Amino acid sequence: MPLLRSHVQGGWHTGTGEGRPVYDAVTGEEVARLSTDGLDAGAALDYGRAVGGPALRELTFHQRAALLKALGGHLREHRKDLYTVSARTGATLGDSKFDVDGGIGVLLAYASKAKRELPNDTVYVDGDIEPLGKGGTFLGQHVCTPRRGVAVQVNAFNFPVWGPLEKLAPAFLAGVPTLIKPASPTAFLTATLVELIVDSGLLPDGALQFVAGSLGDAFDHLTGQDLVSFTGSASTAQTLRTHPAIVRNSVRFSAEADSLNFSALGPDATPGTAEFDLFVTGLVTEMTVKAGQKCTAIRRAFVPSQHVDAVISATSERLSKVVVGAPDAESTTMGALASLDQREEVRRSVKALRDAGRIVFGDPDTVEVTGADAQRGAFVSPLLLLGDPQRAEPHEVEAFGPVSTILPYDGTDQLIDFAARGQGSLAGSIVTADTAFAREIALGTAPFHGRLLVLNERDAKESTGHGSPMPQLVHGGPGRAGGGEEMGGIRGVLHHMQRTALQGDPDTIAAVTGRWVQGAERRETDVHPFRLHLEELKPGDTLVAGPRTVSQQDVEHFAKFTGDTFYAHMDAEAAAANPLFGERVAHGYLIVSLAAGLFVDPDPGPVLANFGVDNLRFLTPVTFGDSLTVTLTCKQLTPRESAGYGEVRWDADVTRQDGQSVARYDVLTLVAKKES
Ligand code: NDP
Repeated sequence: MPLLRSHVQGGWHTGTGEGRPVYDAVTGEEVARLSTDGLDAGAALDYGRAVGGPALRELTFHQRAALLKALGGHLREHRKDLYTVSARTGATLGDSKFDVDGGIGVLLAYASKAKRELPNDTVYVDGDIEPLGKGGTFLGQHVCTPRRGVAVQVNAFNFPVWGPLEKLAPAFLAGVPTLIKPASPTAFLTATLVELIVDSGLLPDGALQFVAGSLGDAFDHLTGQDLVSFTGSASTAQTLRTHPAIVRNSVRFSAEADSLNFSALGPDATPGTAEFDLFVTGLVTEMTVKAGQKCTAIRRAFVPSQHVDAVISATSERLSKVVVGAPDAESTTMGALASLDQREEVRRSVKALRDAGRIVFGDPDTVEVTGADAQRGAFVSPLLLLGDPQRAEPHEVEAFGPVSTILPYDGTDQLIDFAARGQGSLAGSIVTADTAFAREIALGTAPFHGRLLVLNERDAKESTGHGSPMPQLVHGGPGRAGGGEEMGGIRGVLHHMQRTALQGDPDTIAAVTGRWVQGAERRETDVHPFRLHLEELKPGDTLVAGPRTVSQQDVEHFAKFTGDTFYAHMDAEAAAANPLFGERVAHGYLIVSLAAGLFVDPDPGPVLANFGVDNLRFLTPVTFGDSLTVTLTCKQLTPRESAGYGEVRWDADVTRQDGQSVARYDVLTLVAKKES
């Protein structure tokens, strides 16, 4: 049997020796062997830092996003190859789609988010300018830059495709190279994924490396610029996070570990309601998808005491229809566990759970299997238990398979207390149509959970379900769940970057961040800035237009024309009684409209559209006879990759004759590129 190849230092590497065997979860046959003997893990890390990092940092966020999108497209084209190999991990086609399509979905979601939410630049500006002196000459601004190390991922066996991809996407966007370590039992599927990625030729050299087996002494070589993202058991997490190099160098370490996730049936969801059915369906789905080997699967099902019998009966009826079997057998609805070792682990855990309860569905030692040998393959029956919630076991023992325990509760306080006994979980779901109950349980259990789903008839159709982490949202949980956070949209990208508080004068802050800030130099352009193409504009380019006097007639015309006859504009007596104004004032929207009339260049030109304003504030009242001047300054340019235009953000400052700002906002326009 051939050894799986690693991909390090720009090429494929085959270890020496015989290697350790890895088995087909369905047939028990040997699939591959793993050995990384002879592989220099320290050199691989150096290569990532010296070759992959600089290549990624050359690219802007948007250029990295374009590569991720292309990679997602390439993998989608070849996903059937992944499904075929995935079946050998015990996964049904549905399970494989969850893993493979889910992983591709993360790449695409991140690519699209990056284009919308990150600048087309290499530095991320975090939050607003902080004025630090009264004169406006000393400012603070947080900026994020890519760490100069490698993002080392240590993955679990249960998601051999999704796991590496959900960790790769944010690291790649941040400009940090990745080194993937798969879990041994399913490393052959991750190896196929990496082969597809390498063959695509899309990623810069050194941006992604793969170690097919043990990491050797890699951790000894970690520096303060590297990161480790771990998924697996709490005990391994503990070993790795206390590794001397991690502790010594304060290596950023994130763990996602065991989790006793809960789902709670609300007292309103009595048998016969839509919510009761949703609860039972969710429970059965979480028990059977990936044969329950999901870090987010429901382990504890909290049920109001009076509905326990009804839930057991409805769930058992659904579980009796589950067909356990080979992934390629047509009738199969649940596949195998990832390995025989894993089945032994599940049986051990169920034994411990039985000390605090009893099995109400299934038998841990016997299962009818379709299309495969029940003993050679890692098959196990779905197992439903009824447990004693006052005992520790149901809140502590994670049987990482198709196993859940029903736990009765009485009242919201008790439910919140029981949920917290998991000591920190990845996900919880509350199945109820009662928004007051949902609020109480959500706020009571949130400190112990990374994600909470409130499920009812109103959102069920669109809901992504209890067990699906979403790239836009945080995946992780406190305490026992590892204490880390993955994905979470752009938060996951920033995790791979260093946040630095930059202090300086406005011109310097503008130069470093590439965007104009208040107090920095303005340049009045010879031509109207709306006549300049994207490439010709620079942050700081300015137009001053006005003055324009605001008359009573203007205000009354605007009021009649728009229908906005609010008393502060139209009724002198009522306006006099208003503590903020004391007299009639102009509409804020009139000021903004008059400002547009002052700064707009009317002829066709490079400005294609105005797509909104941000941060609009009316700062000082404008009364009849005041005259307005607008200063429009180019603040930030965001060229769009592969489009004939880009976004231009302008600072608009409308001032009164006495120099006071009366309105301030950002105008957002789309401006054509010259080449287009
Ligand atoms: P482990 O914690 O043993 O392994 C997870 C990853 O860590 C694997 O890639 C493993 O590699 C690696 N690893 C283990 N020891 C070291 C080490 N000393 N140095 C570097 N890497 C190391 O978890 P398992 O995959 O064996 O699963 C065990 C249990 O963990 C499951 O039964 C389940 O309870 C829980 N689990 C939880 C998950 C979650 O997401 N919450 C996911 C998967 C499992 P290798 O495989 O080569 O040993």
